[in-house]
Amino acid sequence: MGLFSKFDGLASSRLELDALGINPFDVKIDKIISPTEGIIEGRHTILAGTNNYLGLTFHPDSIAAARTALEHEGTGTTGSRMANGSYSGHRLLELELAAFHNKRDAIVFSTGYQANLGMLSALAGPDDVVLLDADCHASIYDGCRMGGAETIRFRHNNAEDLAKRLRRLGDRATNTLIVVEGIYSMLGDRAPLKEIVDVKREYGGYLMVDEAHSMGVLGERGCGLLEELGLLADADFIVGTFSKSLGGAGGYCVSDHPELNLIRYASRPYIFTASPAPAMIASTRQSLRTLEKSPHLRQRLHDNAVQLHTGLSNLGYTLGAPPSPVVAVVVEGKVEALQFWQKLLHLGVYVNLMLPPATPNGVSLIRCSVSAAHTPTQIDAVIAAFAKLRHA
Ligand code: PMP
Repeated sequence: MGLFSKFDGLASSRLELDALGINPFDVKIDKIISPTEGIIEGRHTILAGTNNYLGLTFHPDSIAAARTALEHEGTGTTGSRMANGSYSGHRLLELELAAFHNKRDAIVFSTGYQANLGMLSALAGPDDVVLLDADCHASIYDGCRMGGAETIRFRHNNAEDLAKRLRRLGDRATNTLIVVEGIYSMLGDRAPLKEIVDVKREYGGYLMVDEAHSMGVLGERGCGLLEELGLLADADFIVGTFSKSLGGAGGYCVSDHPELNLIRYASRPYIFTASPAPAMIASTRQSLRTLEKSPHLRQRLHDNAVQLHTGLSNLGYTLGAPPSPVVAVVVEGKVEALQFWQKLLHLGVYVNLMLPPATPNGVSLIRCSVSAAHTPTQIDAVIAAFAKLRHA
């Protein structure tokens, strides 16, 4: 076995794609025009495959905040907060995120991936048990693996299965960490959080909710699914990212547990990496302010999601879930999905192609993500492209 022989499978899948003349995993956006438009392969294209849920990437206030930070604090921090110190913005953003979620404190990480990696690897060690929803994001699985905890999956969105597994754990149930997401990234379906919280109340344990795709999207103030269901106080840890509704890059965890601060001293993905650049912190702080005072953006996002969902289901497509900013179309067969994705691109619509094993239950998905910045006309154009392919 040579060092590179592990890539043989990958190499042959790549060749298959090359033979089809498609590489959906290497799309070059030659020019970004706005949160919802770009130039791809020389064509004006509607971007419906971003996670730019509120369309804040071009918000003038966020850009101005980033520009000021860039000029006054420089391009980067050049080190980790442990070794090289925190800038005032890092801590202010943590306090703002904690206040926004009605929680005692927060830790900011350099990416959303690292927030899960950093929290789970530090919290759940070899003597601990993590019970996670089978459809959880890769960063959650990787964090569990890094910490060495015993990891048990329960059936996706199945609170009964969760209860069964907690029952089996006996006395260990009270120390178990349960991990779920708010809106799941692939199909756009929501966790049955009320039922999950009921199970947690009955058997004990701690609850972590990753609201990466629901923060800014759900809840009266945009906190996410926990807020929408009045369950913010029931989550021990809420994880989120700056890379979706907030239009940046970075991640966080908020909690009421005073021990949260100790995680900083135990979390390798927090300690051994450079902290987010000042401009990123400044634009994120500003975007959080905008998010808080812009319920109309959430409403527009919701309206756009309903418009796209209704249009596609009227065309007879099989969709992954009720309306949410993630509208996933199930396509039979990997090659068919690849070709479908390419035809959409040629019609000037960019979406995400999701193939097994990254998808739940081995389905192939054309994943659209909706933004508050899409106009109804753009959503209609996306629906029209799908309509052409329906009858092709
Ligand atoms: N959690 C979930 C549920 C996600 O979908 C993602 C990314 N898509 C992440 C965490 C990681 O976030 P980031 O891309 O900001 O690192």
